[in-house]
Amino acid sequence: MARRSGEHAVVLGAGIGGLLAARVLTDFYDRVTLVERDPLDGDGPRRGVPQGFHAHALLPRGLQAIEELFPGLSAEMAAGGAVPYEMIADIRMIMGGHEFARTPTGARGVSATRPFLEDHVRRRARALDRLTVADRTQVTGVVTGPGRVAGVRVAGAGGERELAADLVVDAMGRGGRTLAWLDEMGFDRPEEETVRVEVAYSTWYLRIPGQALNGDRMIIIGTHPGHLKGAALCAVEGDRWLVTLCGSAGVRPPDDPEGFFSWLDEAAPADVARAVRQGEPLGGIGTVRVPTSVRRRYERLDRFPEGLLVVGDAVCNFNPIYGQGMTIGALGALALRDCLRDGTDDLARRHFAAAAAVLDPAWRMSTGADLALREAGERRTPGSRLLDGYLRRMQRVAGRDPEVAVAFSRVSGLYDPPSALMRPAVLWKVLRG
Ligand SMILES: Cc1cc2nc3c(=O)[nH]c(=O)nc-3n(C[C@H](O)[C@H](O)[C@H](O)COP(=O)(O)OP(=O)(O)OC[C@H]3O[C@@H](n4cnc5c(N)ncnc54)[C@H](O)[C@@H]3O)c2cc1C
Repeated sequence: MARRSGEHAVVLGAGIGGLLAARVLTDFYDRVTLVERDPLDGDGPRRGVPQGFHAHALLPRGLQAIEELFPGLSAEMAAGGAVPYEMIADIRMIMGGHEFARTPTGARGVSATRPFLEDHVRRRARALDRLTVADRTQVTGVVTGPGRVAGVRVAGAGGERELAADLVVDAMGRGGRTLAWLDEMGFDRPEEETVRVEVAYSTWYLRIPGQALNGDRMIIIGTHPGHLKGAALCAVEGDRWLVTLCGSAGVRPPDDPEGFFSWLDEAAPADVARAVRQGEPLGGIGTVRVPTSVRRRYERLDRFPEGLLVVGDAVCNFNPIYGQGMTIGALGALALRDCLRDGTDDLARRHFAAAAAVLDPAWRMSTGADLALREAGERRTPGSRLLDGYLRRMQRVAGRDPEVAVAFSRVSGLYDPPSALMRPAVLWKVLRG
């Protein structure tokens, strides 16, 4: 054990955020219980994670972070049929209407569905001696002591019971319960920043012969101002293609086959649209809508109950089209590990500050792009307009300049900080056009 922090920790929610937090806590607590209301014996999409049916790319940076916690996971996934790729050599990326130059970056990932990824992470988590998974178990409340959380109440097959804990971690996603618990305990709620995104997805799984898509592993067609119809095509396990149409700022993709094909005719290169038309559908088309991105500013609170932390989407959820959520969750888990290495004194304040440092660049990038997409200009400043102009120009130059394409991809892939977009060599190329 790295440094003992306590006897028992309980993690609420076995999504990606919860699984990784639980893994980290096994290094510091004698016992860790992971509570999840869904049954976890299947390997398909489940009720608590409805987004799992849709395109769910784990950025290479996120995979790298997960590998720190579960070494060898990518190889296991690839052996199970996930599709290895290198950013951006194997990805056809069309951003701002410009197709990026193809070039190796050394950033490697594996393309798979969300249930497949979750299943592989969960298997590794279940193999940990200190970890117990309690599925089919609903979190119903919190057990409190003076100024602190001392455990949780859960309801499962055996009825309701209390789990005493030194630390409780809320990883229940967008519907996390901490806000209600703060009210009950007389603590302030964090400030909330909300950005209206009105994103809608329609997803279809198809079998498409590899050659029809020129051996590409992923095709990403981003939305941009004036063009609110995008798409993501990912080769995934089971020799399938997962095709997700994405509409931004209130534009909704169709859920019928003819409408699906017509959207691609409009949004995608002709050869891609043709290949999908020739594909063999595997089931029906599923849809999902995401109205807002929300960030809760826990790091700005003066007081927070001891014995409680919040991680993952329960702190901040992003517009999904940028594919950042799971990577931020994984980087957040590493940040939590680093905080625990320094002990448990003042843990909540240190944890939320570290999580905010991980979130800041991703939140700024994605909300900046969202506000630009709406063009309503409500909350846009002259600085953000200048940055949008620069990024649009950068996407154009990335069409023929591999160095600029790599710089853009590494920043949007959360490898490099946004300041890398302004490196003199890149800045010069972009300004020269
Ligand atoms: C449409 C869509 C597409 C996305 N695409 C991407 C992508 O391409 N790449 C990416 O990185 N991210 C993507 N995301 C974001 C990603 O899904 C989230 O960031 C990630 O799932 C967050 O993980 P989490 O563990 O915090 O929460 P979740 O995955 O939401 O997990 C929360 C868990 O808590 C459980 N739970 C909730 N309430 C209770 C309760 N009362 N008792 C017990 N258990 C409970 C739920 O069943 C669930 O298992 C997408 C999101 C959406 C909506």
